[in-house]
This record gives sequence, C-alpha cells and structure tokens, in this order.
Amino acid sequence: MNTATRIAFVSEHASPVALLGGTDAGGQNVYVDEVCRHLAARGYLVDVFTRRDSPDVPEVIEWAPGVRVVNVTAGPLAYRTKDALWPYMSTFRDACLRFMEHHELQYDLLHSNFWMSGWVATELGRNLNIPVTHIFHALGMTKRRHQGGADTSPPSRIAVEMQVARDADRLIAPCPSEQRELVSDYRAQPAKISLIPLAVNTKIFQPVPRVVARQQLGLSDEDFVIVYVGRVLPRKDIRNIVRALALLLRRGAASPLCSDIRLLVVGGECSQPDPLVTPEIGELQRLAAGLGVAEQVQCFGNRQQDSLRYFYSAGDVVVTTPWYEPFGLTPLEGMACGRPVIGSAVGGIAYTIVDDETGFLVPARTPEALTERLYQLLQHPELGTRMGRAARQRVLREFTWPLVAARTSELYEELLAEQALHSALFNVYRSPVVDAPSAGGGE
Ligand code: UDP
Repeated sequence: MNTATRIAFVSEHASPVALLGGTDAGGQNVYVDEVCRHLAARGYLVDVFTRRDSPDVPEVIEWAPGVRVVNVTAGPLAYRTKDALWPYMSTFRDACLRFMEHHELQYDLLHSNFWMSGWVATELGRNLNIPVTHIFHALGMTKRRHQGGADTSPPSRIAVEMQVARDADRLIAPCPSEQRELVSDYRAQPAKISLIPLAVNTKIFQPVPRVVARQQLGLSDEDFVIVYVGRVLPRKDIRNIVRALALLLRRGAASPLCSDIRLLVVGGECSQPDPLVTPEIGELQRLAAGLGVAEQVQCFGNRQQDSLRYFYSAGDVVVTTPWYEPFGLTPLEGMACGRPVIGSAVGGIAYTIVDDETGFLVPARTPEALTERLYQLLQHPELGTRMGRAARQRVLREFTWPLVAARTSELYEELLAEQALHSALFNVYRSPVVDAPSAGGGE
C-alpha cells in the first residue's frame, strides 16, 4: 500500500470529537473515530470534514496520529439538529473544496457517512475526479416505515439517498438486512455493496467482575440487574423494557434467587437524568410510576465510553429492544463485556446476537416475549454466564476495529486499483496514435 494515500472522511453532523449519548451523537461518531484511527495505523492519512458547531473549536484539530478533524464553517456556529442541516450542505461542499485548494491537499478517495455527506462526497468526487465510498448509517425509507409522521427528516432525503446509492462507487452495508434494503428499496447494484460490519473497542469494553462493577456503582450484589445503554429516544423503545420489568416483577418477586430486580438506563442529553433536557427520561419515569416500578428504574444520564464497562458489567443481562436498528453498537459492547444480551430481532442486532448462544432475540414491541427471556436468565444464572462468555468470544472473533479497518482498506485498494486502470485506459484511448510506441522500433 502507498503510505501516502490520503482519505477525506465526510461526516457533516457526527464528529469524533463530540461527547456521546445525546440525540445526535452515537454510533456514527464512534464509527468515524475508530475507523479513522485504525486506518491511520495502517498508514493512511485521514482528514475528517465535519460541520463547525461552535465558535470555540479551531478549524483544524490534530485528533490522533495520522488523523485530523477539519471543522468546516457552514451555517450557524452553533448546534443544530441533524435534520436542520440539509440547507447548509452546498455551503459545506464549497467550504470543503476551498479548504482543500487553500492547503493544496490532494485526496485519493472520499469516505462519506450519512445521506447528506453522501451527497457532498459525490459532488466533491465528481469535481476532484476521485472515487467515493459511502456508508449510510441509517436509511430514510426504513425510518419513514417505522416512524411515519414522527419522522422529521427533510422531504428530499429519500430522493437524495437514491442518488447517492447510484453515484457512489462503493456502498458499505454493516449488516445483511441493510444490504438487502439497499437493493430492494434503493435499487443499488448488488456488486458495489460490501458487507463490513461495525465493531467494538475490546480494550475499552472488557469484562469487569460483577461484584467490582456493582461496588463502583453502589449497587447491591443481591439484585437481578438489567442494563440499557444508548441514546434515550422513543425509537429505542426503553418503554418496552420498563413494561417487561413490571411483568417480571409480578412474576419473579417471589423468586428466592434475588432480592430485587432493577433496570439501569444510561444515556441522555447530559450527565444528569434530567427530564427537561431529555424528555424521554420523563416518559420513562411516568410509565414506571404508573406501573408501580419507579423505585426499580434508575436513570443515570449519559456517560463517556471509558466508564461504560462498569455499567455493562454490573448487569446480569444487557437489553436493547428498538423498533428498528441500522446496526447497534451497544449490543456488541455488552457482549464484549461478557454479558448475555437480549435484543429485538431487527437490523444489525439480528446479525450480531446469536439467538440462544450469546443471548436472545425477541420480537420488537413485545414486552411479554422479553419478560419470558429475562425470567429464564433470572432462574438460570449459569446460562447467563455461559452466554456472556460465548458473546465475548464472538466479538473477539468477528467484531473488532482492526478487522473493520483491514476490510475497509481492502475495499479502498480495490477501488483505487480500478480507478488507476480506468485512468490508464482513458489516457491510452485519448492519446494520439503518433504517441504510441511503434512495433519493434524505438530504443
Ligand atoms: N453511548 C455513550 N454514552 C452514553 C450512551 C451511549 O458513549 O451515555 C455510546 C454507546 O456506547 C455506543 C453509541 O453511543 O457506542 C450508540 O451507538 P448505537 O449504534 O448503539 O446506537 P445509535 O446511537 O447509533 O443509534
């Protein structure tokens, strides 16, 4: 590989620098951060172009060896939800181009993230004559199907996604269900889709002995603890877990195996469980009170990645039952911490959890099915231990960032080789005949 290969990541709303857990800072930020660092470790030079959302951030941040974050001015120097950013994208595109020209930077390839950056990258790719690899992270049609009228995406999203699916040179699908959706919903050519699952940092996310984790969080060793980590939004359906908890308490309160059952909810707009700042926390508290389980549901607000292993490890089980999920990093994080994970059988979750082996898959929006599986783990703690061990092994085998970077690099090299061949052929056809070496002649 040419060590000077320069990659421009485009990720308009999700910067690796952002704090995680809030509305618009989740899996995509983690992906950009980890993939860039690991690509840089393989010798690539990576710049991440993202929208500047504060006057206090410098234009360029040296983020990690070989990785810079370029904060591009497009729109107000203030936070805006991602659904409000579309009108600034042509400014964003032009500002990226100006930065590249001003610093005389020549990139070999663009790697865009989310639909708006996909549009920016296909425009830049055409202008700079370099290939584009794109990953959607979430698809507008899937969102529309599940959220209907509650979907606040700009009306043009799906049409733009269709265009990106057509114009990008390669599409990365993180799981088989997205691979299928790209073909059936977006008419993407199957041959240009590469399946590259996301991953987890297995050094940050590793098992902590349960007793140590619980001491750290001030939790009793006698309780059966269910853990949810992630953004606190209606579509993550944490309400489903609260309902299952209430059903479980009715059923399992008499169990001699634990003194109480608790649900820990980690995530939200700030580090306090403030329902004014994170309205869904208020919804969960009201629901829990109505079901008589307010004492058992503990919301924490968001936490940074390096403290999350204590939360996952404090659990007897990790649960996430969203309505839909493009990939879902948190189930993998729970698995990496050696815990059994119960997830809804949707999107990437149906791919990462092996049902009955590393945890359980349950139908979404069905608290009764979740209660059944929780009860099973409550009754058979050794089953949870066995599943947790298998879960960690599966992550180490299949879902690490070095593996993602290796697969991504393979994709880049293939694409760059194609591009080189294409340019060579193009030049041959364009060269005047007199320039061609004459048979048998010359030096
Ligand atoms: N996260 C975090 N702190 C929190 C809540 C979430 O660091 O308080 C991280 C979590 O560890 C995971 C990411 O945010 O890495 C969420 O990614 P996921 O793919 O599960 O969901 P998304 O946010 O992309 O919908």
